Formats: sequence, C-alpha cells, structure tokens
Amino acid sequence: MANTEASGGQSAFLSIRNICKEFSGVRAVNDVDLDIQQGEFFCLLGGSGSGKSTLLRMIAGLEKPSSGTIRIDGQDITETPAWSRPVNMMFQSYALFPHMSVEKNIGYGLRQDKWEKAEAEARVSELLELVQMKEYGKRKPHQLSGGQRQRVALARALARKPKVLLLDEPLSALDKKLREDTQRQLVAIQKEIGTTFIMVTHDQEEAMSIATRIGVMDNAKLIQVDTPRELYEKPANRMIAGFVGQVNIFEGQVSGSGKNQTIQSKDTGNALEVLGEHDLADGQTVWVAVRPERLLIKTRAKGRAAAAPNKAAGRVTDIMYLGNITHFEITLKSGKHVRLTISEHWDEEEATVRLGDRVEISFEKRAAVLLTR
Ligand code: ADP
Ligand code: MG
Repeated sequence: MANTEASGGQSAFLSIRNICKEFSGVRAVNDVDLDIQQGEFFCLLGGSGSGKSTLLRMIAGLEKPSSGTIRIDGQDITETPAWSRPVNMMFQSYALFPHMSVEKNIGYGLRQDKWEKAEAEARVSELLELVQMKEYGKRKPHQLSGGQRQRVALARALARKPKVLLLDEPLSALDKKLREDTQRQLVAIQKEIGTTFIMVTHDQEEAMSIATRIGVMDNAKLIQVDTPRELYEKPANRMIAGFVGQVNIFEGQVSGSGKNQTIQSKDTGNALEVLGEHDLADGQTVWVAVRPERLLIKTRAKGRAAAAPNKAAGRVTDIMYLGNITHFEITLKSGKHVRLTISEHWDEEEATVRLGDRVEISFEKRAAVLLTR
C-alpha cells in the first residue's frame, strides 16, 4: 500500500484506524487507515459507490462505524454523537432555509448554541465578509445566484468554528465556469481561516487543483494517499494512472532474472525499460505507464521498424489541433492505440507530422512508470 500510513503518527490531527462500515452485508468502507494534518485541504476521490460519502459521514458522526476508531485533535470521537463533535458538514446550497435571510441562515447554529446576541452578530458579520457577501445579509436565498447560495452554505457550516469541515461534492450542481470560480474561492477561504477541510469529489481535475493531498478510494478501500503531483507521477496501479489524467499503458512480460531481466511487450514489439531496480518474477505480467505529453514522435521511412527499447512503429490515425496543444492518436503495428500530445513548443520535425504518416514513437526511461497491478 502506497503511503496510506501515518505521515505524522500519533500527532496527526485527524486519525482514522481500521474503519469499516457494512450495510446489511455490503462493505461500503473496508479497513481504512488515514491520517490528516491540521490545516490540510484533503480530497477523497473515487468513482461512484466507492465509499467516499460513507467514510465522510462516519467522520461527521452521521454513520456509526462497524469497527475501527476516529480521533480528532487527540480525542477519540468514535462514540461521540454528531452534534457534539468538533466537525461540521457543509451540505449543498439547497439545504439553506428558504424563508430565512442570509444572516439568519448563517447564524442558525449560533442561536441553537445560545450565543450572546452581540457575539453572534459579530460572528455573522465576520462570516459575511469572509465569503464576500457583506451586502447580501438581508436577502433570502431565492434572491441569490447559485454561487452566492453556495457561499452562504459555506459560511453557515463554518459559523461554530468546527475543527474540521466536511464537504460532500459541494460543487457538483454548479456549471463548469462557476465551479472553477467557486473552487478558487474555497481554496482562498480555507487558506485564510486555516481550518482543516475534507472534501469528497468524483472529479479528478477538481481534486488535483484544490487538494494538498488526495486519498483515492476504489471498491470500499483507500488505495493511495498522496499529493496531486505524486499521484500523477507515481500512481500505485493502472486504475489510478488512468483516473488522474490521460495515460498510455503498455503491457509486458518479464523474462529472466537479476541484471539480465528484460520486459518484452507485444504492444510495442520491443523491450520496455524503466529506471530503478524492481523485484519482478520471471514470467510476470507488468505494465508501463507513459503520459501522452511524455511520448516523442518522429516520421519514419516505409518499412523501417524501430527495433530498440521504448520504441514502437505505427501510423497517425487522428490529429486534433487545439491551438496551444495538439492531440495525436497513433495506431501501433500491434493494433494498440496510443495518445500523444504536443504543446506549442514542438520541434520542426514534430510539426510536419500529418494524418496517415508512418511514425516512430518513443519515450525516455524516466518518463515510464512501472506498474505491477
Ligand atoms: P460514494 O460516495 O463513493 O459514491 P457511498 O459511500 O455513498 O459511495 O456508497 C458506498 C456503497 O455503500 C455503495 O454500494 C452504496 O450503495 C452503499 N450504501 C451507502 N449508504 C447506504 C445505506 N444507507 N444503506 C445501504 N447501502 C448503502
Ligand atoms: Mg457520495
């Protein structure tokens, strides 16, 4: 398992150990260990049904774990009821009270907690400022835009100063442009107040652009926890490699052992070579992942096959020119389709590649990631 272990050990702010959740025989969350540090903007990323919401709801106290423990700031809260946990969940904007003004919505929890009137008013005004809604305190939710309602929901969730704010796909109902603006605002607000945020999303771009670290869930398990960069550069398996960004995966068979070990690939018709030493068995199937932007391309003369490691011969079967970037589809002699992208700074030879051309693709060892599952 890649780096899901404690990065800060006992000192982690939120520490989850061996958490499981079963719903009438179905394992929704399977033996999850996770440590999150104070002030992180952590994203739980995974496909639908992978267990993200269930894990988040257990942190919130809205679901009771079948087994395992949850600690926040040194305190075991596994048995603590939701309302007295130092966490809060932000629900989507439609959960605002429609008949209450923005101010009343934001101050709702403070009135429940019987805050002094003056203190509560000061807190509400501070929050209105934080989410840039100062002029809108008297309005009702239906008099606001979607993005503004979202900010009110955020202010309301932050009102009682939770130690951890939980967000379950809060932006999924917004259109692309508004979603990107709201992502930026969320990051800015989180930085300003320093509260630990944990956000669930199935959108890998959203997670990559927002998170300090990402936990990838698949089939009830947490399978990798890393920074966005590490996830992209060192995915733990083929699923993650394909989930965070585009990738080409070449299958290969290991032969031999020790220094003479090679990986032969039917996909490329050549050997695959990667950096570093790997503990592989003779006959084992492995995969080498290469990002489209790390593949190199050049034209070749008829019949001239590329007989060298990390090279393959093929033909250009599609070109999509987008101005700043060009996408190529190359069909290799093996029939495998490969994606390759070239940014505007291409060299002259690359610039002359045309649809239907015979080409040779290649990649450097350092561009290749070896995967064993
Ligand atoms: P995600 O948020 O990643 O889409 P969920 O955590 O909502 O996934 O669900 C994980 C699995 O648990 C799914 O198979 C889902 O059907 C199941 N599940 C979630 N909540 C319940 C529930 N209250 N009762 C029964 N099954 C549930
Ligand atoms: Mg969910």
